[in-house]
Amino acid sequence: ALQLNQIRKSYQQGAEVLKGIDVAIQPGEFFVLVGPSGCGKSTLLRLLAGLEDVSSGEIYIGNEFANRLKPSERELSMVFQNYALFPHMTVEQNIMFGLHVKKIAKEEQRKRCEEAAEMLGLIPYLKRKPKELSGGQRQRVALARAIVSHDPICLMDEPLSNLDAKLRAKMRSEIRQLQRKLGITMIYVTHDQTEAMTMADRMMILNQGVIQQIGKPLDIYNHPQNAFVASFIGAPP
Ligand code: ATP
Ligand code: MG
Repeated sequence: ALQLNQIRKSYQQGAEVLKGIDVAIQPGEFFVLVGPSGCGKSTLLRLLAGLEDVSSGEIYIGNEFANRLKPSERELSMVFQNYALFPHMTVEQNIMFGLHVKKIAKEEQRKRCEEAAEMLGLIPYLKRKPKELSGGQRQRVALARAIVSHDPICLMDEPLSNLDAKLRAKMRSEIRQLQRKLGITMIYVTHDQTEAMTMADRMMILNQGVIQQIGKPLDIYNHPQNAFVASFIGAPP
């Protein structure tokens, strides 16, 4: 679904943040990206979304060369850590906003909104403003907004980090079920080891812009490729 060839990124001021990322992500895969703060996780998502330009390397989305596509031309949706909801809009308007921008017919907008709201238990909250919702409900609105786009790929950057442990566990399984049900390809960034280990089909461990290991969580746990990986995921030495 997604292929990255030798992706490098330096920001205007500063050192190289990503130093040659090579990875292919399969359709329908739940792919988790982990690594210490500052290692380049969010940068990689922003490059995929087209919010930043790569310094060099190639991005393919589907089979299409995507380096020069605008964010709106890439068939992917993104959920941010802070949810990025519009405070002055209702839940319903927030969910439909992207569809409005894409000039999708009103009728179809409503249908998709209702479908997503139903799936995520948001029907009672459609007329509320984000500030009248709990953290978990806001999170669901952000998810609904991604779902209604019907994009085949979804990027999530630490979407659960604002929630308490109990809600996190619940949302974890909701996101996973939804992703399976819709067959979405997911690129999911997290700090949370449990999240990574339980959600990932495969995970990629990044340190200082360099891939340390890619594999199934258990394989990585049982066979860490280097000392960094072993200590990062807390595997026995
Ligand atoms: P965290 O886990 O804390 O979210 P991260 O892995 O997502 O970290 P990034 O946000 O990708 O890390 O940042 C990687 C590096 O790039 C950091 O050193 C950061 O300071 C730098 N960086 C990020 N955005 C910019 C920017 N717009 N301009 C310059 N440097 C940046
Ligand atoms: Mg980040």
